[in-house]
Amino acid sequence: MNDPRHELQRIFGFPDFRGVQRQVVDRTLGHQRTLAVMPTGAGKSLTYQLPAAMLPGTCVVVSPLIALMHDQLRAAEAVGLAAATLTSVDENRAETMQRFRDGQLDLLYVAPERASNASFRDLLSAAPLALFAIDEAHCVSEWGHDFRPDYRLLRPLLDSFPDVPRLALTATADAHTRADILEQLGIPTEGMIVAGFDRPNIRYTIQPKDNLTRQIADVVRDTAGPGIVYVQTRAATEKMAAALAATGRPTRAYHAGLDPAIRAKNQRDFVASEDMVMCATVAFGMGIDKPDVRFVAHAGLPKSIEAYYQETGRAGRDGDPSVAHLFWGAEDFARARQRIAEMEPERHSGERQRLASLGALVETAGCRRAILLRHFGEDPPATCGNCDNCLSPPRSTDATEVARKYLSAVFRTGQMFGMGYIESVLTAKSSERSLMNGHEQLSVWGIVEGDDAALLKPVGRALLLRDALRTNEHGGLEFGPGARAILKGEADVALLEAPARPKRRRGSGSG
Ligand code: ADP
Ligand code: ZN
Repeated sequence: MNDPRHELQRIFGFPDFRGVQRQVVDRTLGHQRTLAVMPTGAGKSLTYQLPAAMLPGTCVVVSPLIALMHDQLRAAEAVGLAAATLTSVDENRAETMQRFRDGQLDLLYVAPERASNASFRDLLSAAPLALFAIDEAHCVSEWGHDFRPDYRLLRPLLDSFPDVPRLALTATADAHTRADILEQLGIPTEGMIVAGFDRPNIRYTIQPKDNLTRQIADVVRDTAGPGIVYVQTRAATEKMAAALAATGRPTRAYHAGLDPAIRAKNQRDFVASEDMVMCATVAFGMGIDKPDVRFVAHAGLPKSIEAYYQETGRAGRDGDPSVAHLFWGAEDFARARQRIAEMEPERHSGERQRLASLGALVETAGCRRAILLRHFGEDPPATCGNCDNCLSPPRSTDATEVARKYLSAVFRTGQMFGMGYIESVLTAKSSERSLMNGHEQLSVWGIVEGDDAALLKPVGRALLLRDALRTNEHGGLEFGPGARAILKGEADVALLEAPARPKRRRGSGSG
């Protein structure tokens, strides 16, 4: 077989492999099963496109979004690969199937629901197969943030072609999800290859909301170059774009509800621009190749750490310094909890963990990058020197002891009373109710004294935010999944003092 690096240069025109690409390609060419976990922009497509070009037969690519498939098809054709899609919207299906059977295709893109289809299995048996590539492989896991039941049907199909190598790819999988992907797709543990997730040129800053539009406008004024502002609703994209026009920068809005022609034009304008601010829902960004995005601002909580990483990862792909700002509010967490409560019960625990991880990220007094990288299974240094908390460490008070007492009081009183009552038990404020309940005899009665009493309200809020406590429908507090680690001494509770933000001088004439 030809040298892979030589083929990389010949077909793609790239001088060399990046990161773990070579490892993944070598395993695949060696007929081994592989899970490649590589962040967005790391060049996942190449790891199956190159073997597809080098091995005899066709690489069948399973991909969850038809819209994305057509982008990938165009990209593959652009480097001269013979590629086709086989989806319900394609009109030339008969012709594609013939080319596939005749061994004329390097790549065939299909949706996962094909897998359950007996005639598709027959088609695969009749065609020369090089490799199965399973894109967005986290969709196979219920632990992932984007579970697609159809992905579960892949395993029997793959297993009926045991000699065809399989390559699963994902950008976003925590440790739990990765293990699940290996299991679900029949890939051995040593077949997992994880690329480094650090994006050292991105500076992370996370702050509570406090006049959001002004905060975002400040980011826009402080950061030259193109940027993306993620907002949570379609209507808010247009409002934000209008508000930010006051900064003097060109702005556009992007969301799935826009007229397709306008949406496409806004996207083209942004890709071509050197100073535009795109106000968008998270629908924006997938499949957009703009290396010089200088900032990404989140006007509210993202869906998960994975989503945050992926969305902020659209900044600074060229490696130049870039910033990621996130503004969050307690109401974002309340809304997320509400959303989770409306999901099917079997998803609750996974989703709650996801939310608690986000809570830890926004609340930490420590390094943001360290939290992100640990989430992706890395073992980063404790400080990075390029996030808000590393650059100006916030003053914080250790409230772990008070938090433990708080949780004990909630537990001892039967997990049914609200914050005010818990505070009165802990500070020994006698009332008819506490007398009647017999709570004045409890070991937790009056165990918070002196200055610590002032910490009770913020501690209660912090416990809610971390999902260590939850409110039941009557307003009573009960334990959530975050309680255990705090009670067992595995997690600290630090209260941040309101960050002293530098006052902006505005209109003072001195610039
Ligand atoms: P991912 O799917 O991991 O997000 P892509 O496959 O879309 O990433 O690749 C991101 C960009 O990197 C593309 O523009 C691709 O052409 C480019 N790229 C991939 N591999 C290399 C390489 N070895 N050298 C230079 N550029 C590369
Ligand atoms: Zn840091």
